[in-house]
Amino acid sequence: MQFDDESKADTSPNTRAEQLSAEINRANKLYYIDNAPQLDDAEWDARMQELLALESEHPESRTPDSPTQRVGAPPADGFEEVIHPVPMLSLGNVFDEDGLRAWYKRALDFLEIESAPLVCELKIDGLALAVTYRDGVMERAATRGDGERGEDVTANVRTIRSVPLRLDVSEQPAPPVAELRGEVFLPNSRFAELNADREAAGLPTYVNPRNSASGSLRQLDSAETAKRPLDMFFYALGYVEGAEEPSSHWDALQSMKTWGGKTNTWTRQANTVEEAIVAIKEAGKVRESLDYGIDGVVIKIDSIPLQRRLGFVGRDPRWAIAYKFPAEQAETTLKAIRVNVGRTGALTPWAELEPVMVGGVTVGRATLHNKDEIARKDFRAYDRVVIQRAGDVIPQVVEVSAKNNRPADSKPFEFPTDCPSCGTETVQSEDGAVTRCVNISCPAQFERLLEHFASRGAMDIEGLGERVSQDLPRLGFVANIADIYRLRERREALLELDKMGETRVDNLLKAIEVSRLQPLSRLLFALGISSIGSEIAEWLSRRFRSLSGVRDATEEELLAIDGIGPIVASSIVEYFAIEQNRNLVDELIELGINPIDDTPEPSADHPANGVTFVVTGKLDSMSRSEAQNRIKSLGGKATGSVTGKTDYLVAGADAGSKLEKAQRLNVHVITESEFIAFMDEGVVPARSY
Ligand SMILES: [Zn+2]
Repeated sequence: MQFDDESKADTSPNTRAEQLSAEINRANKLYYIDNAPQLDDAEWDARMQELLALESEHPESRTPDSPTQRVGAPPADGFEEVIHPVPMLSLGNVFDEDGLRAWYKRALDFLEIESAPLVCELKIDGLALAVTYRDGVMERAATRGDGERGEDVTANVRTIRSVPLRLDVSEQPAPPVAELRGEVFLPNSRFAELNADREAAGLPTYVNPRNSASGSLRQLDSAETAKRPLDMFFYALGYVEGAEEPSSHWDALQSMKTWGGKTNTWTRQANTVEEAIVAIKEAGKVRESLDYGIDGVVIKIDSIPLQRRLGFVGRDPRWAIAYKFPAEQAETTLKAIRVNVGRTGALTPWAELEPVMVGGVTVGRATLHNKDEIARKDFRAYDRVVIQRAGDVIPQVVEVSAKNNRPADSKPFEFPTDCPSCGTETVQSEDGAVTRCVNISCPAQFERLLEHFASRGAMDIEGLGERVSQDLPRLGFVANIADIYRLRERREALLELDKMGETRVDNLLKAIEVSRLQPLSRLLFALGISSIGSEIAEWLSRRFRSLSGVRDATEEELLAIDGIGPIVASSIVEYFAIEQNRNLVDELIELGINPIDDTPEPSADHPANGVTFVVTGKLDSMSRSEAQNRIKSLGGKATGSVTGKTDYLVAGADAGSKLEKAQRLNVHVITESEFIAFMDEGVVPARSY
């Protein structure tokens, strides 16, 4: 990122500082609050570095609200603010071996010692989180925020499977109060799935795993967070009360692991800075094979007494440093901007590139994200561009290269106003993020639907991938989904095509036959009805039992299912209101594709069936949402407020006004363990009067 030198010369330091502050603050808001980053890390960094330099040269330009004084996210509306008892620090960065050696020497000189052992850890590209345990039980989880103040996201963090709700003290006692710190992240492999789901639901996709982890953790509805496959590594003991702190960072890591906290398995001890450099090189090599992003290695002085003596310089500890990996970037020529049509009709732009090696892999295609991104960064065909690749994430085009030399006749890219497949005029989503073809007979959408229908999570038809999904419709073999099951009658014609050998044709036909046995939920998901993910497909299957049952469901019946709201209900009704889709159901049934869900109702004779519960306070073993789902799955009712009709109040820790009201109304109050026995074993709690 660079700035126009002339305009910089014309600007006074104060004006320039103001300008930079405004840009950074805006970028921070987009990044942290709106989850829609506008600047990439390098662009943000360049502005921040310039502002820092400017402020140190001209101290009068530093204002109290400068982003240099407050790096991070202000709490958003809806989360309670948490003041960190011990601030969550930022780390200084070094970018090469000499920088690391210099840091180490400064630390040793400060202490006037000859050497100090180090610990090296992967720097996970996620969100820092502090989780407090009191008497071994999770009490609170807070985001880093600006380091001093974060947000209370306890309800959401409870949904992360790798975060213990209660510490395991069977081997080693835990301090009465312990704050464990770590990094929340979304595995790269799950990121692609999450985006596919969002696309299916017509929602804007996330830009990168870090961004989606942040978005997931900051959901106001923790049930929504629970659906996201978040994960967490613990990497530090923030503080302890009522017990001695460990003597080394390494010991702290071992303790957290013993207590059941997930720690990263790649962690190295180093006796010298040269050993640390060897470890860093090793980390650079494993980087590609990890299912999460890392952007460097954190090196810490292991001894905690030495850490205390070293203290801080500004906001950065003297005893720790981040060694940042160079971003895996490369420059190449953007040969063309292409636009794909997705299964739901969304137009997604991508770049056809002159193939180039990035981080050991040849890249010939990269995402351009959306229409706005292309306009904002002004990408054009034949531009020299910078591309970036991180882990398994789809490579992206970052920016136009500084070395780009545009010919005089270069024109800005014009995003198509008509569907590139069928020519139908596109429509724009309300927020402008999605451009869509709404033609239900759009060939491109059908090809993608076919691919989705056959995909592993749907009907799982091997051999019906991207290419075959294009060929079959284009060659006139398949005009609707039901035609797949008629292909066996056209085996000879398929063989004549000379596209696939006999073995491949027969394997495909066999896989198609096997898919007839897929359960109803899979078939419903495979149909690609907007906003029906695999979970909703299961609910529909359980409730309506057959394809025709779902087709004939009314909006009221759909809305009566827990978890189905007006948007989902109406999209199902709309789908089956289309004659073509109703006919498809008839054709499938005629062809024998008519799975029946005969799962018995397990709740029919469970004592919780028909019983009304209110859950309040904090439960140890599950979240309130989980408890409520458990009740509903057994045919019980989970309501929000205590009334005369409430049968049981499940009271967790810190139960407040609901408990008082229940006692006043003489509602049967039960403990968490009574509740679990009730749910799991059908033991109706005894009541003492
Ligand atoms: Zn179209």
